Amino acid sequence: TAAVTLKHFLQLNPRLLSPRLSGISLGVVVREYASLSHLHKQYFGFPGEILMRMLKLVILPLIISSMITGVAALDSEVSGKIGLRAVIYYFSTTIIAVILGIILVMTIKPGVSQTAEHIDRAGTTPNVTTYKTKRKELEPPKVSEDTTTIPPLTTTVMEVLQNITKDYKIIGTYSDGINVLGLIVFCVAFGLVIGKMGEKGRILLEFFDALNEATMRLVQIIMCYMPVGILFLIAAKIIEVEDWEIFKKMGLYMVTVLSGLAIHATICLPLIFFVIVRKNPYTFTLGMAQALVTALMISSSSATLPVTFRCAEENNRIDKRITRFVLPVGATINMDGTALYEAVAAIFIAQLNDYALDVGQIVTISITATVASIGAAGVPNAGLVTMVIVLTAVGLPASDVTLIVAVDWLLDRFRTMINVLGDAYGAGIVQKLSKRELERMDLTSDVDVANP
Ligand code: ASP
Repeated sequence: TAAVTLKHFLQLNPRLLSPRLSGISLGVVVREYASLSHLHKQYFGFPGEILMRMLKLVILPLIISSMITGVAALDSEVSGKIGLRAVIYYFSTTIIAVILGIILVMTIKPGVSQTAEHIDRAGTTPNVTTYKTKRKELEPPKVSEDTTTIPPLTTTVMEVLQNITKDYKIIGTYSDGINVLGLIVFCVAFGLVIGKMGEKGRILLEFFDALNEATMRLVQIIMCYMPVGILFLIAAKIIEVEDWEIFKKMGLYMVTVLSGLAIHATICLPLIFFVIVRKNPYTFTLGMAQALVTALMISSSSATLPVTFRCAEENNRIDKRITRFVLPVGATINMDGTALYEAVAAIFIAQLNDYALDVGQIVTISITATVASIGAAGVPNAGLVTMVIVLTAVGLPASDVTLIVAVDWLLDRFRTMINVLGDAYGAGIVQKLSKRELERMDLTSDVDVANP
């Protein structure tokens, strides 16, 4: 264990930690001593952008090949059980994250003594209106209790279901707006059918398995470029940020979100992992280090997926039959970090508004924050967009998301990191819970496509 831990640390240290630190220094130096034109800034960000694009390019073949082979290699009864365990895990950890966020924001009360002119981005409102007055103007007409809560929630559930069956392109690039949730549902159905096709199905299964192998080899090549990409990503961001002052103004709110994420990552998830798996959770986290740093740098669980796969399978030795199933679905719907952030941000905005929330509204926030995290795609700032669901559900003006936009690029990185960690722990836990089925399959099947 010590040797493995050391190996992971060394892997993290020279390859990822130093580009990150040098990226920060490079960014600070260039920011201080060179005044770059818009075009030069673009050149500067280019190596980082290339990394993002390369990662995004491999997501599609990766999701398709891993989901189809993952489902087809298991029999439908086993995949059903694994799926159910994964969903129970996703759901319960997300709820825990939301409750943790709510407890923290109600205790720290980051929005209680602040007014709009303190928070308003870069002081763009010359008019010193207090937040309370500002809110009054924005407040929608008062509606009765049950109509404020029920419609947004049902609408949201309907939207999620509609999204699953929405049009999507199988061929296209990620940025064309692929409907990942819909794609996953399609791949599960396709995999189940292939699994039941006998000999003919095997040809397809081998095809997708080879596609998976080829994609992972590409990922390996991309990872060689990662230190350079990361260096420029972070440097370019430091040059680009215009308003550092906002962090002081939003300090307590950010501390609340970040400490919630930290507690979830270092206490809640590890505890659940330890109770079920009986292994050192921190060694497991260290095994995921490269994926976590990637998530921190690129703010996207989906684009981190290729790295998550490699860390989970190679460092933490999770069975491919589990990762292929649990990770892509997790990257799309299991977002503990996002759920925690949504709950904290909504209550923070309520506090700024001087808007007292009753128990019913807090329950509404916890439910809608969970739904909003499931609905958020694994792309940068998705959580900020779905935040509107939570705000409108309790009668807060949707336009109030503008108050937290300025710091979202930073919080997004950290919550994405926790989203990825949650998926990885999920794979470890589901593997442990499914040990018996996996062993039985090993005994009965002659060729194991998922683990040749
Ligand atoms: N960026 C996050 C993710 O990819 C989603 C969010 O905005 O919360 O996991």
